[in-house]
Amino acid sequence: MEADTHLIHPHLPLDNTRRFIMDKGEGCLLWDTNGNDYLDATGGLWLAQIGHGRREIGEALSKQASRLEYFTSFWDFTNSSILKLIPTLLELVPSHITDFVFTSGGSESIEAAIKTARYYWYKKGQPEKNWILSRRNAYHGAAYGGGCASGFEADNFGLGPLVPHFRHLTPPHTYRSWLFDGQDPVDFCIAELEQSIEEIGEDNIAAFIGEPLLGVGGMVTPPEGYWPKLEAVLRRHNILLIQDEVVTGFGRTGSWFTCQRYGVQPDIITVAKGITSGYMPMGAAMMRKEIADTVREGIGFPVGYTYSGHPLAATAAAVNLSIIKDEGLVERANTIGDYLAAGLHAALDDLPVVGEVRHAGMAFGIELVKDKQTREPLEPQVAIADEILDEFHVVVRCTNPTIIVMSPPLILSEAQADRIVEAVSTVVGRFRPDGSYEK
Ligand code: PLP
Repeated sequence: MEADTHLIHPHLPLDNTRRFIMDKGEGCLLWDTNGNDYLDATGGLWLAQIGHGRREIGEALSKQASRLEYFTSFWDFTNSSILKLIPTLLELVPSHITDFVFTSGGSESIEAAIKTARYYWYKKGQPEKNWILSRRNAYHGAAYGGGCASGFEADNFGLGPLVPHFRHLTPPHTYRSWLFDGQDPVDFCIAELEQSIEEIGEDNIAAFIGEPLLGVGGMVTPPEGYWPKLEAVLRRHNILLIQDEVVTGFGRTGSWFTCQRYGVQPDIITVAKGITSGYMPMGAAMMRKEIADTVREGIGFPVGYTYSGHPLAATAAAVNLSIIKDEGLVERANTIGDYLAAGLHAALDDLPVVGEVRHAGMAFGIELVKDKQTREPLEPQVAIADEILDEFHVVVRCTNPTIIVMSPPLILSEAQADRIVEAVSTVVGRFRPDGSYEK
């Protein structure tokens, strides 16, 4: 399609002209403009909790658009749709979270969170407390602050000068055991954190930001004890904890928020994606009362977006969250997630190139290796996700560099889970440890 040549596709080289032009969606299925159907095992971009094409949301959006499509939430204005959403959110979020900065997506939420943390300490009379700690292989969005918090060098290449005062620590990617110098991964990460705090000085560090499980980094689930121990160190040193739940929030891992699953109480939680299941762009930085009151006291919080608290986004969020609740989709993330995980383990564990299959609810990572002993990443001679898509019409994604990641809609059926297992295991089963592919 000629029009597509005018689109700049993120992370796609100019000479790649392969295109799938999606035109329609229903449940876990998508159709392209040629009428071919696909099973969406990535949930769009990790967000389609309730699946595609839900009429309830379409109808609610149509009504709201004809009533009030937009009015600002700046200064002393707001709108009734966003105010209706707040009691619903307060019921669902961890009980220590009380206040919200609404945004249009994940990256803006991260910017709001980082600015909140820095501004909080400024208002407390400690403007030098502005360093942000994060981790390598973390992904915190495509804006400058979040980009600097992210831990993929390729994402910042050529974009300098970057925002100062960010430091990246080791991610708790236990399967990559060489990261931890032969030590227990939790002990190593905690010691490294303590050492960084000593080097930078606790009076210079505003916050630690981390995804409860690393999404783009390969759906890396943390080892037992990692988050509670890390939180205890931060509390001892008076450093805020920001958890980036842009991927993991709203049921993805089988609890409303993944910080609940890992037993921590972040000061600020960022969300997006699952808050509307993608029906409208929306995100939020959500925080404790004392932080919110500190940053809005005096001249008010200096961060706002035109579309903060957008009535249509708020409407989509309200209907989406009631569907997640009424259909028991958070519980379903556990049951169907366990079902899909059992199928993947049975079909994949004994294959020569499969190092680890891991999951939390409906977030999956399958780590492919050259050698199960050394755990070195596989160097595939064909693109794995493309093979799965072309032959089986199942959409998955590969990251970092050969981890298959999946996050299907939470409404996935058992038959659809079986189809994912068949597609992934057939293609992965054709790889030899040297990366060659025998069809
Ligand atoms: N944070 C995490 C953990 C993400 O995975 C993403 C996007 O995938 C973002 C932030 C950025 O969100 P957005 O693409 O909506 O700006």
